[in-house]
Amino acid sequence: MPFEAFPKRRTVSLQVKSGQIVVNAPSYIHLSDIEQFVVGRASWLKSVLQKQAQLPSNKMTYKNGSALLFGGIWHDLLFNVGSDNSIVHDATTHTLTLIGPSQSLKNPNYIRRRLLAFFKQEAETLIAQRLNYWIERSGLTPTKLSFKFYKNRWGCCYQSGEVRFNPLLVSAPLEVIDCVVIHELCHLKHMNHSAKFWALNKKICGHCDETKNWLRHNHEALQLPTIKEQ
Ligand SMILES: [Zn+2]
Repeated sequence: MPFEAFPKRRTVSLQVKSGQIVVNAPSYIHLSDIEQFVVGRASWLKSVLQKQAQLPSNKMTYKNGSALLFGGIWHDLLFNVGSDNSIVHDATTHTLTLIGPSQSLKNPNYIRRRLLAFFKQEAETLIAQRLNYWIERSGLTPTKLSFKFYKNRWGCCYQSGEVRFNPLLVSAPLEVIDCVVIHELCHLKHMNHSAKFWALNKKICGHCDETKNWLRHNHEALQLPTIKEQ
């Protein structure tokens, strides 16, 4: 179990990264106390490790038949040779069918580019809808909506009143997308994570804490990793 001591840290935190438990703790804490802390969270750790273990082995291999998370549900990514360059989502069979030239369908980077474009397009529709829904309910109105692919963040809010979201969010369930939208809207009023911020956040949505955990546990499943040319 990797253990990192940070002199300035005041809290002990636990993370599960690729099946490994990582503990971050202030340097003055005794190892035995840390052990106790970990043991006390054994059932939580077990559930996290199990959830991560459930990643399908063919997760996002950019090959015909690989598994892709979309709307919080694992979908089969299927390839079809054709010239119309579209991606067809079938919510009944849980499939995403990517149409393209036969040579290109063998190129993982081509598949990834197409998926990124598809996710961006889906995000532009879905996240804009959810944003409008929550603007009406909260009375918090951004000046601009934009999108950007990030590695380690789902959204951000600027002083200018612009809110920006990671299009990969469309892989997550709707209630998770909603919580990220609500989070950024709350930043329009409080540009920090102060108690006032969280109070406002809780007033609009009661389950945003669980959502944060969902995003953390499923971080890997939500990525479209880069792949070396074969
Ligand atoms: Zn924030």
